[in-house]
Amino acid sequence: MAAKADFVPDKINLLPDNIANQIAAGEVIQRPASAVKELLENAVDAGATSIKLIIADAGKSLIQVIDNGGGMSETDARMCFERHATSKISQIEDLFHIKTMGFRGEALASIAAVAQVELKTKRANDETGTYIEVENSVVKKQEPVAAPNGTSIAMKNLFFNVPARRNFLKSNAAEMRHIVDEFTRVAMSFPQILFTLTANNQQLFHLEAGSLKQRIVQLLGNNYNAKLVSVKEETDYLNIYGFVGKPETAKKTRGDQYFFVNNRFIKSPYLNHAVMSAYQEMIPSDSFPMYVLFIELDPAVVDVNVHPTKQEIKFEDEKIIYAFVQAAIKHALAQFSVTPTLDFDLDASIQQLPSIQQPFTEEKRTAAASGSIFKGFTQKNQAHFIEKGERSDPIAIGLKHWREFYQEGGQKSEERSQNDESSESSFSDFRNQTSDVNELTQLLNTYITVPSKNGFLLIHQQAAHERVLYEELKKASKEKPVATQRSMFPSTLELTPADAAVMEEIIGDLQYLGYIIEPFGKNSYVIQGTPADVEAGNEKHIIDILLEQYKHFSPEVKFSKREKLIRSLARQQAIKTGTRLTEREMRQLVSDLFACEQPNVSPDGNPAYLEFKQEQLERMFGK
Ligand code: ADP
Ligand code: MG
Repeated sequence: MAAKADFVPDKINLLPDNIANQIAAGEVIQRPASAVKELLENAVDAGATSIKLIIADAGKSLIQVIDNGGGMSETDARMCFERHATSKISQIEDLFHIKTMGFRGEALASIAAVAQVELKTKRANDETGTYIEVENSVVKKQEPVAAPNGTSIAMKNLFFNVPARRNFLKSNAAEMRHIVDEFTRVAMSFPQILFTLTANNQQLFHLEAGSLKQRIVQLLGNNYNAKLVSVKEETDYLNIYGFVGKPETAKKTRGDQYFFVNNRFIKSPYLNHAVMSAYQEMIPSDSFPMYVLFIELDPAVVDVNVHPTKQEIKFEDEKIIYAFVQAAIKHALAQFSVTPTLDFDLDASIQQLPSIQQPFTEEKRTAAASGSIFKGFTQKNQAHFIEKGERSDPIAIGLKHWREFYQEGGQKSEERSQNDESSESSFSDFRNQTSDVNELTQLLNTYITVPSKNGFLLIHQQAAHERVLYEELKKASKEKPVATQRSMFPSTLELTPADAAVMEEIIGDLQYLGYIIEPFGKNSYVIQGTPADVEAGNEKHIIDILLEQYKHFSPEVKFSKREKLIRSLARQQAIKTGTRLTEREMRQLVSDLFACEQPNVSPDGNPAYLEFKQEQLERMFGK
């Protein structure tokens, strides 16, 4: 036995480069859009003033980026596909002074590991350029070539050698939407660069170099043109600039919201909350303002190296940034006198804005690092102090609210999916309990009380109606298409290229749900018919919001296309809170609700009604 054990061979191998690169690629290149981001950023880093993105088949067969930047030497052109090959840092200290978008030297190595890549590049001072073909991390061909100054990288057949990942990709429309998102983010942060995007030979964007405002309007639509408020605050510690939408442009879904830190798009629920809090009381609590904000600060106080795609970053001191963002937005909104709630008193002090105007001295900066600067922030005359009713430390309060707000949201979406699964609950009892449907009362134009056996139910009319519509639509979509009524006066939809991409994705399902929509030239559509119960004249608005909501369904929620549409439509068409209902409407709603398979919750998992038992009520009255 012992002798046999001696023959067990060693089992650790070093992975060959191409496999190691493929594994690394898993982190950096998750889908065509991730490659788009990396290639666009490389072109920006190369100092290009013109960047062209060409896509075929939603990036699955071709992603090409052509720039007029600095180009590469013959050796660099070969080197750039090696892992950890970068010209952007050379020692660890450099990590703290990053001014470029890339620095990890992983993107091209990853791309070359999972696609067929053709690179053509030439520096301005070189006679000839270099052409290289790489596949599966192996150089297949290299030769001199005549080429314009700059670089063209074409990556073909993404994941051709990793079928599992290729199969994992979504529909072309969905992948295209991610590509447009990435393109938008990069194009937004470099308005001085000309960008174009061509997909399947059709030019979707042609963005001339210009101002940030022009770029925002080019990308997000003309309707923002006269509705942007400029934000600009400069201090020694950080600068904030950009635009926020006037309150009336706030949308019902989290749509056009962009934060860039040192020109890098980031996702930050925390900073988002700082903006939201600045809008408090100016917009309804369930709507979202538009913003495009750039924060510039010393690279030494941010860590962008916490995530391979660099979308999450760490600030040395988040609270300071929060306070500045909040203050800057309030200031901007106040200056453009879109904040009727401000006192004149306070307004005068806003003009002084010591926290904003006074440069950070070295002393203050040190204090900031140790946290004591917050005391300064809480003094009167500080910009963010204008928030009425704030008691002690506004930052702490902001934090607390943020946490509630954020965690609540997070939890809800989890509950949501669970609720959907666990269907059989106690509602069947209620169904039998609700007795006298004649005795209905509407309270606050929002709730309906229904007597039950042991007390009463308080129905939320909007949640209840959403449930009813949801089940109706769901049933209709399973059995036969929803009946359509042809519009007498078909209305036209002019969409942004991004929305048109979404429309292409959902047009078939929409038809099933009773909306007949036909393409009508570039990015335009005509609504030929709607479900019979949609009020005429309302269809355009419904489709607009539908697109909005559809786009911003959290990608973590794994609903099918049709499920998302049904949910949006139900939300859309439901009776809203604050709507007075007639006796007959109430009765209809209540009986429809209790005819539902799952009357107790709205489609997104919130209660549709609450039950109050008489004995509980008595107990509350001390009886
Ligand atoms: P990183 O951007 O993190 O340095 P990449 O793998 O994206 O890593 O690129 C590797 C190197 O290739 C870059 O550091 C740069 O020197 C060079 N490079 C990549 N794309 C271009 C381009 N479009 N123009 C000029 N040089 C480029
Ligand atoms: Mg790069």
